[in-house]
Amino acid sequence: MWNQKAFERGNSRSVIRELFAYGQKIKAERGEEAVCDFSLGNPATPPPEEVLTAFRTFAASDDPMALHGYTAAEGDLGVRKTLADRDTRRTGEPLTAEHYFLTAGAAPALTAVCYALTVGAGDEFIAPAPYFPEYAVFSTVAGGVFRALPARLPDLGIDAEALGEMITPATRGVFINSPNNPSGVVYTRENLLEVAAVLTEKSREVGHPIYLICDEPYRELVYDGAEVPYLPAIYPATVVCYSYSKSYSLPGDRIGYVLVPPTCPEHGELRAAIAGAARTLGHVCAPALLQYVVAAAEAKPDLAFYDANRRTLYDALTSCGYECVFPAGAFYLLCRAPGGDAKAFSEEAKTREGILVVPCDGFGLPGYVRIAYCVAPSVIARSLSGFERLAVLYRSRGISIK
Ligand code: PLP
Repeated sequence: MWNQKAFERGNSRSVIRELFAYGQKIKAERGEEAVCDFSLGNPATPPPEEVLTAFRTFAASDDPMALHGYTAAEGDLGVRKTLADRDTRRTGEPLTAEHYFLTAGAAPALTAVCYALTVGAGDEFIAPAPYFPEYAVFSTVAGGVFRALPARLPDLGIDAEALGEMITPATRGVFINSPNNPSGVVYTRENLLEVAAVLTEKSREVGHPIYLICDEPYRELVYDGAEVPYLPAIYPATVVCYSYSKSYSLPGDRIGYVLVPPTCPEHGELRAAIAGAARTLGHVCAPALLQYVVAAAEAKPDLAFYDANRRTLYDALTSCGYECVFPAGAFYLLCRAPGGDAKAFSEEAKTREGILVVPCDGFGLPGYVRIAYCVAPSVIARSLSGFERLAVLYRSRGISIK
């Protein structure tokens, strides 16, 4: 006997992970060049030099035990002070160590926030599509319910009016992920202001704050000067979940934080509830060495690397006739699946060309595939003839690829 929900989660297949595992298997059998793996958001560019230097410095420390001991559950005080000072400079908001809770990446941060906000079974969390599929898991862990707001086409912004119509007295939180996985869209300030206005009105109507859960692991990954506004300045009841997985190329090292800013209603109590939720979920402290590394290294991601991949892939695919969303941020390219069946296209790309792209059905956007272009440029170069052959194949079947 075991927990049935846990069993179902463990036994259900994640399309992304399955494609990635398939790619690993084929690479082991036939060599690296046998597949073009665009499945996982695993950066192929190394961590920034400042981060590598911090690792080297700590590795050479003559007091290693100081680096490997438990820290406070919320994270080392000095580390949190450093992060608070950094964010204060970035946002203009006076933030202090007590506003931070360090976690092993964004996933546990988001899970703890959802858990803390779930007052009773049936409490609702809403995400505008397209959304990161794990939100459904994070929202339901404490008995909550996940609801998807249909995507607003063609711009993939947030339909604030429709969001307002979805809100009920059971609504506790709304996820905002910008830059967005899988669309690469960066929500505009105007759009976020519309969302904030709706949530303010609805919070008043339902008699409790509806929190924005701002998930921003791609915050620094923006191109052409796109703005990622600091959400608590737009909507005070915002909790920010951040991760260094993408910006510092450290996805396997697991480090991130929850920021509950002083603008949040009852921020002290909410922070305590998040700490309690994390404890309930088995958190002891975020990896200590990683805490010290991210505090020691203030760095930027290698935007030029991603930007070059973005342009190469977008230009090549659109000139074959594919319809793609030009990403303003993150490192994902959304492409309309020829024929409209994303699962069928993904399967065909995999079996015919060894190209691994993720159908977006699980992201709440059927008919599209996600191409993670955080790969080595050689993978993109190698994939282009395959994408072209697929376009020719679909056309030969009388299917317009636009
Ligand atoms: N949120 C989004 C939108 C993501 O794309 C990811 C990872 O891909 C996560 C959260 C989880 O990030 P982490 O590796 O920090 O747990």
